[in-house]
Amino acid sequence: MNRKIIHIDMDAFYASVEQRDNPEYRGKPIAVGGSPEGRGGVVMTASYEARVFGVRSAMPSKKARDLCPQLLFVRPRFDAYKAVSAQIREIFHRYTDLIEPLSLDEAYLDVTEDKLEIGSAIEIAQLIRKTIRDELNLTASAGVSINKFVAKIASDLNKPDGFAFIGPSNIAAFMEQLPVEKFHGVGKVTAEKMKSKGLFTGADLKRLSEAELIRDFGKTGSFYFKIVRGQDDRPVTPDRETKSVSAEDTFPHDLSTIEEMGPELDRIAGLVQVRLQKYHLKGRTVTVKIKFSDFRLMTRSQTLPAPTDDLETIRDTARRILGAAIEEGWKVRLLGVGLSNFEDQAPPAGPQLGLF
Ligand SMILES: [Mg+2]
Repeated sequence: MNRKIIHIDMDAFYASVEQRDNPEYRGKPIAVGGSPEGRGGVVMTASYEARVFGVRSAMPSKKARDLCPQLLFVRPRFDAYKAVSAQIREIFHRYTDLIEPLSLDEAYLDVTEDKLEIGSAIEIAQLIRKTIRDELNLTASAGVSINKFVAKIASDLNKPDGFAFIGPSNIAAFMEQLPVEKFHGVGKVTAEKMKSKGLFTGADLKRLSEAELIRDFGKTGSFYFKIVRGQDDRPVTPDRETKSVSAEDTFPHDLSTIEEMGPELDRIAGLVQVRLQKYHLKGRTVTVKIKFSDFRLMTRSQTLPAPTDDLETIRDTARRILGAAIEEGWKVRLLGVGLSNFEDQAPPAGPQLGLF
């Protein structure tokens, strides 16, 4: 069975956050990073207005200023970007826990099985883009396919604010027409080398045997051999730092007593435990999320002496956490249970970002 993989990439992330948070930067060419005097430093992200002038990421400040004299240099605020990244992650977690972040603004999601049982990766990708726009006032591009490589190329096709789906029956034709420099992982140097050998597109690469590709490009040759045929079996691997597995449910009517909430919490804990076993994970920290009828949100955590994927332990811990927190007159709309702080990890130094 084919997997359903989404690659999400925020558009001009640092620059877009700055333009969102600072109205004076909107509609203007800005560069996050670098220095206004053109003394050293490189541009980290250029706004789309700056890209029109040819300003790009990793470009030296001086060159950027020469291309675009009115360019505004903005000092990066990494704390702000990290906070937005955690909010984006939280949106991803509504659909799947199989999230592999590549950076603050980019991630692979495996939605072969999604938490909300939507079933369509295309629909999920569009929902995520819409949610990011509605809740965070930022735009993201998404690519959908059956593996990471093709999904990542797809997310770049219609940037910014773009979407592309490359289905199993289109992959071969798509890869054949793709210029070699567009192959993610093929750097400038390799692309030049390929062109010097008369290899300009996927179709050209496809004519070479695996042995020939290895001879010319080393070990990566066998990777090229596979991807040009649209084959990429690499799993989506959740990030060590933010790995968490959770489930939650919204109730048709508010719950106000432990008698009502307890069985619901047990059921949700059961869903989490099934996922933990599926992903072969054991976690030490149990978190309970409570959303009230007025949309206030509360999370409470407890860290166990040993990592667990045991149903009874998770259920009992979740019940204990809820029991200690509950107050009379609560109107609870949603309950969630999450496990984090997995076996091979050191205990978290600060609050776990993106738990739900
Ligand atoms: Mg990006």
